[in-house]
Order: sequence, then C-alpha cells, then structure tokens
Amino acid sequence: MSAAQSAPHVLIIGGGLGGLALAQILRKQGISFEVFERDLNKEARPTGWAIGLHSIIDELESAVPNDLPPLEPFVNHLQPLTLPAQLVFYTSPNLAERFGVENSPSTRIVRANRRRLRDWLRINIPIYYNKKLVRVDETEAGVTAHFEDGISATGDILIGADGIRSVVRQCLLHGEDIIKVAPVGNIIGELVLSDKDMIEQLQLGHSAWICNINVDDLIGVFGGVNEVHTSGKSGDYYWSVAWQDDTVPIHKSDYWTQTATKEELHSFAVQKVRRLPDKLRKIIEQTPVDGMKLKPILYYDVELNKGRIQVGRVMLLGDAAHSMYPFRGEGAIHALVDAMSIGRTISQNRGSIVNTPDTQRILQDCQDEILERGAKAVRASRAVYFPEKEKVTFTGPRMAWGHPSRPIPVKTISV
Ligand SMILES: Cc1cc2nc3c(=O)[nH]c(=O)nc-3n(C[C@H](O)[C@H](O)[C@H](O)COP(=O)(O)OP(=O)(O)OC[C@H]3O[C@@H](n4cnc5c(N)ncnc54)[C@H](O)[C@@H]3O)c2cc1C
Repeated sequence: MSAAQSAPHVLIIGGGLGGLALAQILRKQGISFEVFERDLNKEARPTGWAIGLHSIIDELESAVPNDLPPLEPFVNHLQPLTLPAQLVFYTSPNLAERFGVENSPSTRIVRANRRRLRDWLRINIPIYYNKKLVRVDETEAGVTAHFEDGISATGDILIGADGIRSVVRQCLLHGEDIIKVAPVGNIIGELVLSDKDMIEQLQLGHSAWICNINVDDLIGVFGGVNEVHTSGKSGDYYWSVAWQDDTVPIHKSDYWTQTATKEELHSFAVQKVRRLPDKLRKIIEQTPVDGMKLKPILYYDVELNKGRIQVGRVMLLGDAAHSMYPFRGEGAIHALVDAMSIGRTISQNRGSIVNTPDTQRILQDCQDEILERGAKAVRASRAVYFPEKEKVTFTGPRMAWGHPSRPIPVKTISV
C-alpha cells in the first residue's frame, strides 16, 4: 500500500488496544509499520466500558514514546474525583462483608475509561480505516494483506491484532473455527447517576463492585462507573446481571436476549436480582427501560495451545490469540503484554528478523509464550464460575486486577 519502507516493515491488522500498543512500541523503536482497521473511522464503534490496568503500567509507560502524556491522568475514569480506583466483592453467604482491591503505592491500579485509553494509544499513530482484512498471503519474499476494498499491503511481518473473530487466525488455521461460547446469559443496563445515588454506588465500590451469589442460576452482578463527568457530581454507570445457562447457542442471534425488547430485558434482570439486598439491586431497579442495552453481549473464548501456530511471517496477539471471558478482567492486560513482547522481539532482532532460522525460532518462541500464557488465562477465566469443569481449586485470597483482595472498610464519601 505504501512506498518502499525500511525493513522490517510490520503490518498490524486491527487498531484495538493490542494493535495500537504495538504500533506505539514500534514507533518508539523507529521500526516501520502500518495499522489497518476495519471500522469506518475512529468514532465508528462504541468503545466499551472501563478496564482495570495493573502490574504492567510502568513497563507500558516506558515502552511507548515520550510524546505521550502520563497514562493515569489521561485515562483515569474517576477524575476529577480523587478517590483511588477500587473494586469490592460481595460474596454469598455473607453479602455484608467487603473484600476487594484498591490503588495504593504497593498495589498500583489504574481503572481506565476505554475510550480515553484508546485515544492515548492513538496519539501520533496513523491508522488506515475502512480496511477490512479478508486474506493473507505469505511467501518467501514477504507477506501481503488483502482488504475487502481490493487494496493490498505488503510487509516483512504481519501481526494479527484483529480480535476474537480474527481473520488472520482463520487464515493460519485454514478456516478452523475454535470459538467457544460461555454457558452464561447476560443483561446489561446503562444510566447516569448523580448526587446521592452516585455516592451510594461509590460507597459500594469506587470504580466497581461485584456480587457473587448462588441463588437460582444467578452467578454474578456487576455494577460500576464508566466515567465520572467533569462536574464530579454525576457519572455514566453500567451494570450486568449474569446467570448460568447451558443452552446458550454458539450463534448468538439464536439466543433469546438478542431479540428481546428493552422492557423484556429490564423485567428479566429485575426479577433475577429480586433476592439481593436493596443496595445491590438498586442500580438495576432504577435504570430506565431506555437504558437497557439491546442485543447484550454473550461471552466467548478462544484457547490456542503452544505450538498451534507455526510462525513464518505472521503472528497473533491479544484476543486473536487468546480470548477469554471477562470474569477476571485480564484480556486487555494480556493483549498489552503480548504487544510489548512482540515489539521487544522485533526490535532486538530487527537486522535479520525473518531471514534466518535463528530469528525464525525467536519469533516462534515469542508466539509460543503468548499462546501458553494466554491459554492459562483463558482456563482461569472459565474457572471463576465453573471451577469443577476446569478441575481448578482456588486457594488463598481472591485475586482481582492483579492483586490479592483484602477487607475494604466502608468510608464516608462526598462529591
Ligand atoms: C464486558 C467486557 C469487559 C472487559 N473488561 C476487561 C477488564 O476490565 N480488563 C481487561 O484487561 N480486559 C477486559 N476485557 C477484555 C478486553 O476488552 C479485550 O481482551 C481487549 O480489548 C483485547 O484487545 P485486542 O486489541 O486484542 O482486540 P480488540 O480490542 O477486539 O481489537 C481488535 C480490533 O481489530 C479490528 N478488526 C477486527 N477484524 C478486523 C479485520 N478483518 N480487518 C481489520 N480490522 C479488524 C476491530 O475492529 C478492533 O478494532 C473485557 C471484555 C469484555 C467483553
């Protein structure tokens, strides 16, 4: 697509968190790259809700160029409030007990508004929009990406950062479909809360709270703030009610929630949480019917074990390589770790990246590490609600956002 580039030239398919992070890392290293994104433009898609960043924050900040502003003030979803990021669990049988994690000098956590995180990662990155990949051709001389509009681009290496339904992965696996659906139904609502209602939610958990309870088939209720408004007096909130359902079909259009009306979704959610304490039900009950998300997402995963991808000039990162249920809030963290790992590998071997058996092995090792770490995380995410199916026994305190949970006392909050 572009004029002659200095080798290695890297084609990045997908401008999500993983692809953009890789682009920033290559930019810092002076390595030539192009990013291709299927969306029509940068505003084409709602970006989703908040993301808990931890453990890799320092490494990420030093891997990206110096012209990016510091991460935390840019992405922190609680600003202008000065409360630390915090996630609190309410677990049966004693739903009054509060355990969780909180940002502190020894447990660094940044709860990022996803749109702002994407904006941060997009700074000074040129992106070709409306470029939907349909095919990849790999030869001795290079790799070519073909897009739906008939345009193609050629490079030395291609990175599939194209998410759970990755076309790059399908090309590598010759069309084999390995996506699995979670036996979990899910309903989501959104609403604006202010003043007293917002304070009540902040008290339940500054950033978010999770209620795990086994009543009927209900497995979890999540509530949290996506973004506090600039006034500090109100914010965009969202919640999800999840229940076990072994009948969820692989084609999401066949599941009842995908054709249900807002009224039906709302009354189902209200009915599901009817036995919860008032404070954990309130956000659901006070959501206007119009705030219900139609076609609420269903959860899928992709588990690729080490060795499944034979690397030539094409590699996978992020959800394309290992998509997981969001129950441990880890998918984006792994996508960012993958981007740093691939960026480092390409940069350290830039002189001979695809031409010698040695460097070929280095790329393969890098991909294998991504798959092995990813597959472990995929299984751990399944095991949160289905430990017996995964034959997993959790010991020690529950982990959240990379840290062990501990008692979180209630504090008075004002906004
Ligand atoms: C409800 C929910 C909550 C979550 N919460 C958390 C959390 O708290 N913490 C956390 O770490 N993770 C969380 N995750 C997971 C996280 O969102 C993903 O793991 C992460 O976004 C993966 O990044 P990615 O770049 O690999 O893929 P994506 O973000 O999916 O990006 C892929 C990009 O590729 C583009 N694309 C797709 N196909 C093509 C094509 N054919 N051609 C060109 N472009 C294409 C897409 O448009 C997209 O922009 C959550 C996920 C969900 C569903």
